[in-house]
Amino acid sequence: QHPAQADIGVIGLAVMGENLILNMASKGFTVVAFNRTVSKVAEFTSGRAKGQTIIGAATLEEFVAALASPRKVMLMVKAGQAVDDFIALVKPHLDPGDIIIDGGNSHPADSTRRTKELAADGLFFVGTGVSGGEEGALTGPSIMPGGNSLAWEAVGPIFQGIAARASDGSPCCEWVGPEGAGHFVKMVHNGIEYADMQMIAEAYHLLREVGGLTPPELASVFAEWNKGELNSYLIEITADILSKTDEETGEPLVDVILDAAGQKGTGKWTSVAALDAGSPAATIAEAVFARAMSALKDERVAASHLLPGPDAPVSVADRDVFVEGVRQALYASKIAAYAQGFQLLKLSAQDAGWHLDFASIARMWRAGCIIRAAFLDRVADAFGEQHDLPNLLLAPYFREAIADAQGAWRQVVSTAVLSGIPTPAFSSALAYYDGSRTARLPANLLQAQRDYFGAHTYERTDRPRGEFFHTNWTGRG
Ligand code: NAP
Repeated sequence: QHPAQADIGVIGLAVMGENLILNMASKGFTVVAFNRTVSKVAEFTSGRAKGQTIIGAATLEEFVAALASPRKVMLMVKAGQAVDDFIALVKPHLDPGDIIIDGGNSHPADSTRRTKELAADGLFFVGTGVSGGEEGALTGPSIMPGGNSLAWEAVGPIFQGIAARASDGSPCCEWVGPEGAGHFVKMVHNGIEYADMQMIAEAYHLLREVGGLTPPELASVFAEWNKGELNSYLIEITADILSKTDEETGEPLVDVILDAAGQKGTGKWTSVAALDAGSPAATIAEAVFARAMSALKDERVAASHLLPGPDAPVSVADRDVFVEGVRQALYASKIAAYAQGFQLLKLSAQDAGWHLDFASIARMWRAGCIIRAAFLDRVADAFGEQHDLPNLLLAPYFREAIADAQGAWRQVVSTAVLSGIPTPAFSSALAYYDGSRTARLPANLLQAQRDYFGAHTYERTDRPRGEFFHTNWTGRG
């Protein structure tokens, strides 16, 4: 039996759990480790964890006994049933005031449920998003914790100790909010990540097919873009990817990779949440659908011989002008996609009764996570200057940025349409921008149609809101 000395215990010794433990130990914390397949504990303590402040537990009893009070038990297991199963196993060994943390990619609704269930037993639940993949877990992830705020005092120093640091030195971890708020913010982060990746892929597609740039040329373009306002992890790795040669064929590696994308579901969750909240996050949803379309590889190949495209695709007069136009379209689309993500956070938080600090959320994403970008400093500034900013598009900085870019943005989307190149993210981002700035949309006609076939009633422009009218459209009784 080990003395009760460990600062925190982690259950789940797959790549994320192991790396988080090593990160914690490197910051001076003592960690006790456990895993369902117990043989992995000894493998870990005699291998990667050797010589560090990491204790292996052979049983759950030993694991719990090694923890200092209040006990902090962090689960890094497969999201879903495994989390509930381990909570049920650990719970009988804990005392009121002890803390269970779930650091997996759990659905926010599960974290809301677990917070409530464990509170009934006097236990504090924390559902936390951990972003940055395996590398982030080891060297400093972005950590987005929510749940029972009474746990924050105890877990805050550990989480902030191991989190990534932004360029100003502040940790990419702050308390997000109650219930599933932490996992909700992580989910929206992933939805934005889907959009960011799809928009970069569309820029690549246009430059390749319409601009005629080769992968090495594209690598230089993205490397150049990374020096400006698009500076970000995803642009950086895209430049790297485009410069890689396949050892087997000598071709650019990107050219031999099959165009059928997979997904694990967090983009879909974000899109469903947007539908639930009535939040127009079409670019995030389009990014998910674009992966679904890509996965229909055989159907696309068959249809490519049957469905004609435009007769005379657009030819680019000046390649440099086109490249700069695509850069501006990418930047403007990115602003619109982030506006959608933050709008979704706002509307969902209103529904759930959570008070989210959007500046703090943007600051947490500045380092350690996949969407880290210089751009997020501007987003944090925008919400810092105006906490109740109704939409990111309205922040003076972004208003001006889109005003500058919109000419090129419209040109590039038109070129894509005329060339038959699908750009669902660019196009939907532009439609979102135009929808957001249109005082009168054609929903008057929708309301008339709804009233016509279903007597759903409508409001009138010349009467106060909340007064409803019905017309007998056909004159029949
Ligand atoms: P994972 O492959 O998602 O899960 C493996 C771990 O879960 C192992 O410890 C495994 O134990 C345990 N496990 C699986 N099914 C179980 C069950 N029914 N009952 C009890 N334990 C069970 O591991 P991971 O990739 O390290 O990810 C951990 C969590 O972090 C996941 O929620 C994942 O979505 C999230 N996440 C992952 C990444 C990433 O880049 N990988 C990034 C961010 C977040 P055994 O060894 O006994 O099988």
